[in-house]
Amino acid sequence: MTERLFGTNGIRGIPNEFLTTEFCSDIGKAIGTFFQGKIAVGSDNRRSKSMILDSVVSGIMSTGASVIYIGVIPTPAIQYYCKTHGIPGVAITASHNPPQFNGIKCIDLDGTELSRDKEEKIEGIYFRKSFRIAGWEKIGERVWDNSASELYINGVLEKIKHDVSDRKKMKVLVDAGNGAAYYTTPEALGRLGISMTTLNCNPDGLFTSRQSEPKPENLKEFIQLMKTGTFDLGVAHDGDADRAIFSDENGNFIDGDKTLALFVKHYAKPGDKVVTPISSSDAIDDIGREIGVEIIRTRIGAPIVSRTMIEKKARLGGEENGGIIFGDHQYCRDGLMTVGIIISIISRTGKKLSELIKELPQYNMVRSSVKFSGDFEPIRKKVKGLLEDYEFLEIDGIKARKGHDWILIRPSGTEPIVRIFTHSISKERAEDLMKKVMPEIMDS
Ligand code: MG
Repeated sequence: MTERLFGTNGIRGIPNEFLTTEFCSDIGKAIGTFFQGKIAVGSDNRRSKSMILDSVVSGIMSTGASVIYIGVIPTPAIQYYCKTHGIPGVAITASHNPPQFNGIKCIDLDGTELSRDKEEKIEGIYFRKSFRIAGWEKIGERVWDNSASELYINGVLEKIKHDVSDRKKMKVLVDAGNGAAYYTTPEALGRLGISMTTLNCNPDGLFTSRQSEPKPENLKEFIQLMKTGTFDLGVAHDGDADRAIFSDENGNFIDGDKTLALFVKHYAKPGDKVVTPISSSDAIDDIGREIGVEIIRTRIGAPIVSRTMIEKKARLGGEENGGIIFGDHQYCRDGLMTVGIIISIISRTGKKLSELIKELPQYNMVRSSVKFSGDFEPIRKKVKGLLEDYEFLEIDGIKARKGHDWILIRPSGTEPIVRIFTHSISKERAEDLMKKVMPEIMDS
């Protein structure tokens, strides 16, 4: 087996440590050798973006492939550009990781994340150094195309504009976390005529205002503003804006799988299929049964969800972290599209977001993680011993279920940690389950 470079979401690392200019240039050579022709390249706005991007781009051009530089934009906008033009792409991004990280993610001609077998081919070219280096007269060129933001905004607005009425009454707070959505989300909402206040919508590659991951502990200022009661909806993105997380009008943070459950209820239609990993709430299954939508469960990871959606012709998919995929739009997580759909649901139903959330089956989840690197088997054995009367599902880590109580424990695909999720009808019960398994894992 060859060594692996691409993780769940591309190659990630710290510039000038793992991501050196030499490494990035060689990866660019491998990407150019594999794809050839024209390749679209864009980035989020991390401090190291230009160094990484220019190194990858010079590697690509050395193979004779040409580069279309489409600027600093959200990852789903790069993917939408690739899908629309039928060309492959590269996103220079580390998504929600801390500012010192960066990454390289490859996109296929249809806008989806590159499949594992194609990534393996690029890794093979990289490790064998079997680059297709061009003669001087065939070296690739770089052209600029500044139409990608416009293409993306129009692509999203086209799909929701008929559903959004009475929108001038809606007030929205947008927190782009200094990331790549700093322009696209405010611009799109502005064109819908929505009254909007922006927070952290200045691009800042050091993420000085808040950490990039849109979770409650990083969104204190956002939640505080939402609690003033001034806004109908709060929107917070991660660094590359493939995710959107919401707050209701009272400043209550809404978990990503509640958003997905809301979309199953108000966006999916009877007969549709919805794909979600085993880590999201039972509310999704309950609503699916109620309205005649088939729920398909997968292993964790957005690329797995989108591949399964394509295979099963599913219209909706998503994860509990706020990454939602709309098959009618494109088969990848899309933060702005997620914002558009929630606004259209609020607009169409005429209800407050808190009311819409209250109508969903109520489950509670607790999430935690512990540092870990090594063998997962002892943990698996211990958990099985501890939870004897539970049913086990072992497609990704270990999931133990008894009624609506469940515990999911899995080693992370991107960090040296084990993630633990507990789920129950009451918050207290979910917390008790966490207290029960946590010491066992800590001792492993
Ligand atoms: Mg992201």
